[in-house]
Amino acid sequence: MNLSEHLSKEILAQYGVAIPTGRLATSPEEAEARCREIEATKYVVKAQIGAGGRGLSGGVKFAATPSAVRTEAARMIGKRLVTEQTGSAGEMVNSVYVEEAIEIAASYYLSLAFDQHDGQPVLLCSAKGGVEFEQAAQMDPDIVSHLTLPSDGTFDEEAVGAFLEKSGIPANSRDGVIAIAKGAAKAFFANDATLVEINPLAVRKDGSAVAVDAKISLDGNALFRHPEYEDLASDGQLDELERIAQDNDINFVRMSGNIGVVVNGAGLGLATNDMIVDAGGSPANFMDIRTTTTSLQIAKGIGMLLQDDSVRVVLVNVHGGGMTACDTVAEGFAIAYSRAKRKPPVVVRLAGTNAVWALEMLKNRRLEFEAFDEMGEAVERAVEIARTGRV
Ligand code: GDP
Ligand code: MN
Repeated sequence: MNLSEHLSKEILAQYGVAIPTGRLATSPEEAEARCREIEATKYVVKAQIGAGGRGLSGGVKFAATPSAVRTEAARMIGKRLVTEQTGSAGEMVNSVYVEEAIEIAASYYLSLAFDQHDGQPVLLCSAKGGVEFEQAAQMDPDIVSHLTLPSDGTFDEEAVGAFLEKSGIPANSRDGVIAIAKGAAKAFFANDATLVEINPLAVRKDGSAVAVDAKISLDGNALFRHPEYEDLASDGQLDELERIAQDNDINFVRMSGNIGVVVNGAGLGLATNDMIVDAGGSPANFMDIRTTTTSLQIAKGIGMLLQDDSVRVVLVNVHGGGMTACDTVAEGFAIAYSRAKRKPPVVVRLAGTNAVWALEMLKNRRLEFEAFDEMGEAVERAVEIARTGRV
């Protein structure tokens, strides 16, 4: 779950990370009024969307006066902002964050994340922070240094100091960066974050450091340990479809392909998507129907897929178990199709508990579908339909 910039900064501040003074506003008038509460000679107006890349796309603007703040806010609020990271549809800007502009002497990149290979927490640092960082790091991964951190959250200032030196952070910036890294690490561990990223981490002439931009991603599977974030999950922080899915006991992630997949269980979901890609196709989503999901909830989840214009074919791959029997999914499926305006062709593979009964049920409901016994055959057929558009 990605948190917007102002929430990320609010959390970081609780752990002692220095942030610029800022105010959130949902209208140009409010932006003007609230920036008067900030003591500053210059302001920055920042569109609050989930994606980054705003600096290069008009989502971060400087303003010298409160009325200029209003003008910049009016250009952002209520419009979609397209950045390198949003996709072509962009993201709707519902609010802006107005901050005091910081006089930046040096910009660094700092983040905490988990190493994909060994699952260990790592501190990442680069002396080349700022808007060009992502592209620069792609061209030359050596500009980023990694330090594995102890997973109990202890923070060894000396070790981090040596690491920063190795990363090319100059001596006069190091204390400031250590102070930010320490607070960021606390926030990372205490909140079960999967990412805390500060870019740029700005150092002023006097060596003091401040998090000019910040992004936190929380581990959705650990949210039950953080009731304080419960309302965030239902507060526009999740993709709209992902939220509807979560409300219906379904894990759902939108992807960029054209084969809608309906699967029970995360492992089977991953395997199905892998097989689709191996067969030359491309999944439109990842779906995992949880064991407690009811047929009505399943109908909701499948309904979302059917509304998605990019879905050319739906592949149902279910292994009925003790909790989710095949007929529960088939029932949900039949309900979704009977309600839907768009009815893309369906390929079904049902196995395990109540598979035969579920297929009977689909036939009795006069649903059109192709059934296969083997997962591989069903996948191949779905990929073929997606490619040729023919049933
Ligand atoms: P992003 O492009 O979405 O990552 O947005 P950022 O918050 O990182 O802002 C983009 C860029 O604007 C930063 O890399 C800085 O160069 C610049 N910027 C943002 N806030 C300030 C500020 O307070 N002072 C100065 N000098 N530059 C800023
Ligand atoms: Mn940034």
